[in-house]
Amino acid sequence: MKTEWQQQMRDYVDTIEKLETYINLSDSERKALETLQTTWGTTPYFASLMDRDDPNCPIRKQVIPSMHETENRFGMKDYLIWKENRATDEIRPDCIARQYKDRVAFTVTQVCGIYCRHCFRKELVVDKDLKLSFDVDEGLKWIAEHPEVRDILITGGDPFLLSDEQLDYLVSKLREIPHIQMIRFGSRLPVVLPQRITPGLLKVLGGYHRVPIWLNTQVNHPKEITEQTAKAVYDLLSSGVNVGNQAVLLKGINDDVETFRELHLKLLRVRIRPYYVFYCEPAPGMDHFRPRVEKGAELIRDALRGHTTGLAQPMYVIATNIGKIPLMPDYYIQDSTDTEYTLRNHLGQETTIPNVPE
Ligand code: SF4
Repeated sequence: MKTEWQQQMRDYVDTIEKLETYINLSDSERKALETLQTTWGTTPYFASLMDRDDPNCPIRKQVIPSMHETENRFGMKDYLIWKENRATDEIRPDCIARQYKDRVAFTVTQVCGIYCRHCFRKELVVDKDLKLSFDVDEGLKWIAEHPEVRDILITGGDPFLLSDEQLDYLVSKLREIPHIQMIRFGSRLPVVLPQRITPGLLKVLGGYHRVPIWLNTQVNHPKEITEQTAKAVYDLLSSGVNVGNQAVLLKGINDDVETFRELHLKLLRVRIRPYYVFYCEPAPGMDHFRPRVEKGAELIRDALRGHTTGLAQPMYVIATNIGKIPLMPDYYIQDSTDTEYTLRNHLGQETTIPNVPE
């Protein structure tokens, strides 16, 4: 018998007919769905959060293809090869991407719960132009042979779409490798398919003190957070799995002060720690989602820093081929002399503190 999450995947919404049971399509949405050769789709659960009549609904915009995806002034060709350093001399299996000495990304699947229109890994996950082999045993062998690697990010696709048995194998094998200190997962399923957080999955992930598991999900708009997501996060935390958020700054979805603040406050209300806000990377076909680089720093300044608790302060970064670069606001230190610093707060007020010599 299929469990609820498996049934959701069986009833997957990936045809116009199915989508029309949830929303009234606009002409431009219909044109994109009929014209573009692209992978798209959503779980019925996430589709049920869509606004029936508003094409500007943040859930619709993340799920339904747009003709704007054919415009590409700023997207880089072969983006993922560049971003994940796949053209370097180091010999690694396809499933291992490396930007740092001590941590690697381990790609285990190409399948997702939704196919985000802003996905940076679009060439691999959505367009599937980049063909890679996801041989888990090959990846595990490589990791075991590299003692300098202590932290593994399991990614995809969405790794939580693997079966409990597959995940159990992966996690147990990693935990047997003596130099692995922590395991991270990147998964949108707590948001797009919270039914996946089952007792069976919790048993696989939790209940083991050494080698903790950290989960980073992706919530971009407060509308995505429901009671079901809140319960899934509570269950994960109760099993010892830490939950953080990696939002993407998306034009027309979360790049205004009110939405940005509400997103971060709501994350904390359901116990998700805001971790990163990513600048929308220069992957192809997503120019329409990309704001100015400074926008995220301005939002942190105007919506979060000083306006609410320090727990709701993600790091604003851009992920590049040489790692993540912070793009945080820089207004705090206004001036410095030999004797004092002039500091500014979120309200524009200034104060001074002594400049202590070394
Ligand atoms: S869930 Fe993640 S990997 Fe899948 S399409 Fe969305 S951003 Fe890309």
